[in-house]
Amino acid sequence: MDFKGKNILVTGSNRGIGREIALSFARLGGNIVINGSKSINQELISELEGMGIQTYGVIGDVSNYEEAKRMISDIEENIGKIDVLVNNAGITKDELIIRMKPEEFQDVIKVNLVGTYNMTSIVVKSMLRRRTGAIINISSVVGLVGNIGQSNYAASKAGIIGFTKSIAREVAGRSITVNAIAPGFIETSMTEVLSDKIKEQAKVGIPMNKFGTARDVAEAAIFLAGANYITGQVINVDGGMVMNG
Ligand code: NAP
Repeated sequence: MDFKGKNILVTGSNRGIGREIALSFARLGGNIVINGSKSINQELISELEGMGIQTYGVIGDVSNYEEAKRMISDIEENIGKIDVLVNNAGITKDELIIRMKPEEFQDVIKVNLVGTYNMTSIVVKSMLRRRTGAIINISSVVGLVGNIGQSNYAASKAGIIGFTKSIAREVAGRSITVNAIAPGFIETSMTEVLSDKIKEQAKVGIPMNKFGTARDVAEAAIFLAGANYITGQVINVDGGMVMNG
């Protein structure tokens, strides 16, 4: 697959899954836009530049619509229109529902779900005009089956799935694909904070008996970005944790 001349924006790409998705598209020749809410990983920018592709960093909080608008204008002026949007930025604020504060629920919905809406609703306009584009939303298997202590996160990730399928239907006639990836347990800073006990318990529910890597998720993103006749789908990257009927 070749992404030469294509502009790829990966939100929340300073580290973890987003970083690996950015690097994977760059290896295939794509121009990469990196995003972080408060800073840009300059080492990653240097690494990307060293790969001989065009790269650009935009700082901005995806959960803020005005910031999202500013970021997209900035990218279009400096790099051009976005061909592939990967809505990857995400946070967790885990708590049992009896202890979860309203702001803990709302903050997670705002970054994960509203952030996905903000970026998609702005970027899709130029995709519609150009009758081309791919949008990939990073959900989670938790959005499919739920998880104790993650009602906010599960609601945001389930919301992303409904959002993905709706937008996929709206824009399919213009050859734009919209899909979601539902990772299972992937080794990143998001899961690093979990206790060894929780990690061991999680492994029991994974038929492949191991955690996934950011590269595993990136491979699915590359596949979806290049698949012209696949839209409205959710691909689980989870070692068999959740097998859809
Ligand atoms: P991570 O290592 O914590 O990275 C999250 C990224 O999102 C960071 O680069 C962070 O950058 C960025 N971010 C957070 N809030 C943002 C905001 N408001 N605006 C812009 N960027 C923001 O997490 P990860 O494990 O790579 O997760 C990436 C995605 O995969 C998330 O959507 C997550 O829910 C999903 N996922 C992860 C797993 C897993 O097991 N790791 C499983 C299922 C789904 P700054 O802090 O620099 O802003």
